[in-house]
Amino acid sequence: MLEELIRPHLRNFQPYVSARSETVEARIFLDANELSAGSPISFDGLALNRYPDPNQLRLRTKLATLAGVSADSVFVGVGSDEIIDLLFRLLCEPSIDSAVILEPTYGVYRVAAELNGVEAAGVELDDDFQIDVEKTLRAIRNRTKLIFCCSPNNPTGNLLRREDILALCRSFNGIVVADEAYVEFADAASLAGDVASTNNLVVLRTLSKAWGLAGIRLGYSIANPVLVEYLLRIKSPYNISAVASSLALTTLEIPGAVQTTVREVIGERERIARELNELPVVRQVFPSDANFLLARFTDSRRAFSALLARGIVVRRRGEPRLRDCLRITVGTAEENQLLLNTLSEVEA
Ligand code: PMP
Repeated sequence: MLEELIRPHLRNFQPYVSARSETVEARIFLDANELSAGSPISFDGLALNRYPDPNQLRLRTKLATLAGVSADSVFVGVGSDEIIDLLFRLLCEPSIDSAVILEPTYGVYRVAAELNGVEAAGVELDDDFQIDVEKTLRAIRNRTKLIFCCSPNNPTGNLLRREDILALCRSFNGIVVADEAYVEFADAASLAGDVASTNNLVVLRTLSKAWGLAGIRLGYSIANPVLVEYLLRIKSPYNISAVASSLALTTLEIPGAVQTTVREVIGERERIARELNELPVVRQVFPSDANFLLARFTDSRRAFSALLARGIVVRRRGEPRLRDCLRITVGTAEENQLLLNTLSEVEA
C-alpha cells in the first residue's frame, strides 16, 4: 500500500486552498489580492498579474501525452531537483527513515537527504557502474523508504540495466526512483511505460537537458496517481510560473525539436570520445548514453587547469573511484574542437 509509505502526519494533511480553486469562470477576479490593473510588462500575451494554475493541467496533460501515460500520473516541479526534495519530505521521517543512493551518482540526492535530516546509505555501483542488485538489497533497512537509480547515470554516463531497476522495484517495498534526466540521449526506452504496472516506481524527467530549457526550471515525474496526488498536496501552491509553463508548452509543440538536437549531440559525443581516446593525456573514455563524457586523465589537475586557462570549464569529481576523471559536457562542434585542441597541447 502506497499510503503506508507516506509520513503519518501527511496522510490526512489539509493543503493550502488557493484562491480560485472553486470559481474559475468569474468575470471579475477580486479574490487573490493580485493587481487587477495589469502588469508593467507583457510577455507572450500572458496575464502576468494573475497567479498561474496551481495544478498545471494543460502542461501535465501535454507531458503525459508525450510520455504515453495518463495526466494524473504526471507531477511537475521546479526542475526535477524540486521533486527529489519533495519525495524526501513526503516519505521520510527525519532521523528515522532512510534512503539508499547508488554511487557514484548525482550529488543532489545526498544533499536533499541531508537537508531533510534523512540518512542516506551509499551503495557502490559495480565495476561497470551497474547496479549490484544483491548488495543493494542487503543495504535496505527496516525504515528505508527510497532508492535512487540514475539512468543514464551522472557522472558515469551509462544506462543502468532496466531489469535491475525493475528487480529492485519487485524486492523492495519502498519507492524506487529512476532518474532519467538524460534518457533522450540514450538508445533505450524510458521506464515511464512501466509505471502503470509497477506502483512503487517513480520516473524523473526534465526539460533541462535534451529540451534545452534549463533556464526555466521545469522537471516532472511519472508516478502512481496516488503519489502524484500527495505531491500536489504538499508542493508550494503556485510552484510553476506562468512564464515557465507557457514556454514549456510552446517548446513541447515544436515538431522534432528534441530529435534533431539529440542526434547532433550524439554525433559530437561519439566524435569527441574517439578523438579524446587518441590523446596522450587521456587514459580512458567511459562509454556514454548521455550528453557528457567521463574521461580519466594521466593528470586531471593539469588538464583541468589548461582548459580553464583557455576559459573552458569542465566538472571535477572528488570520489576516490573517479580519481583523475573529468566530466565533459558535449558542447557545440566549435566548443568541442577548442576543448580537443587545448587538451592536445597538454603534456601527458
Ligand atoms: N537529475 C540528474 C541526474 C541531473 O544530472 C540533474 C541536473 N544536473 C538533475 C536531475 C536536475 O535537473 P533539473 O534541472 O530538472 O532540476
